[in-house]
Amino acid sequence: MPIYEYICTQCGNEFEELVFNDEKPVACPQCGATETEKLMSACSAKVDGGGPNLEALQGSSCGTGGG
Ligand SMILES: [Zn+2]
Repeated sequence: MPIYEYICTQCGNEFEELVFNDEKPVACPQCGATETEKLMSACSAKVDGGGPNLEALQGSSCGTGGG
């Protein structure tokens, strides 16, 4: 299902919302503000041990500082 993660810029609440139309604004379920930003689901992937994660290496845009 097209579930996207959003973060409210008003209260900082993170939530998931079923979005069928990107044009439709998503309101924060906590404060009701429509000032929300879509989060990249690719960055939310967590590696629980194992071999090297190619996706993490390729996702340069997700880099947080690096070094
Ligand atoms: Zn909010």
